[in-house]
Amino acid sequence: MADPIAANIDHIRERIARAARRAGRKEESIRLMAVSKTVEPARVRQAVEAGIRIFGENYVQEAREKIPALGPGIEWHMIGHLQTNKVKYVVPLFDWIHSVDRIELAGELDRRAGKLGRTLNILIEVNVGGEASKSGAPPQDVPALIRDAALLPHLRIRGLMTMPPYSENPEDARPYFVSLVKLRDAIRALAIDNVSMDELSMGMTDDFEVAIEEGATIIRVGRAIFGQRPAR
Ligand SMILES: *Cc1c(COP(=O)(O)O)cnc(C)c1O
Repeated sequence: MADPIAANIDHIRERIARAARRAGRKEESIRLMAVSKTVEPARVRQAVEAGIRIFGENYVQEAREKIPALGPGIEWHMIGHLQTNKVKYVVPLFDWIHSVDRIELAGELDRRAGKLGRTLNILIEVNVGGEASKSGAPPQDVPALIRDAALLPHLRIRGLMTMPPYSENPEDARPYFVSLVKLRDAIRALAIDNVSMDELSMGMTDDFEVAIEEGATIIRVGRAIFGQRPAR
């Protein structure tokens, strides 16, 4: 039987290409991240063998075990909520942090990155749906947060990330993706030094095609690659 992970990835790549074509975008402008939370290293390795080079993890303890086991040649992105006291573990392991939503967290990431002599790629997580249960900065706070974070020398602010409110219908996510694009454009117009705003991390298993149509540059796909996760 064909490797289901490789077949899943092929199928997703076809869907990415079709969505890009519909939107008049280049397929290469969209990067596929495999979200590997709860997935054991041997199955992550199958995705690497199928050509995936970007992986997303949510949980610090799990990442501390998994990332060293997989070795070099992989770009790791932290996509889960991050407590300030866990930053010391995260900075040596990850190249990108998608979940920066407060200046205290940005400051601690900068301090730890400086100690290790490295620079971290940062996305600001935005709570576009205004849900009390979700992390992410409120949209109106994002410009000030970015102005402050832009002063930190070991962070490179690359763009925005969001996770819209859950819905069965992918179309329901579209207005939230559109509002993230508008916020990105507003921040670009401020022309803040050290801020590039080229990246939009949005779209998951159920809604990545809609996200691509609206301008996603990084899509974060878990279940469509690795199958359903165990309840946590
Ligand atoms: C788990 C997770 C994903 C992947 O979700 P799927 O529905 O499995 O594709 C993407 N982004 C974040 C922030 C996640 O926590």
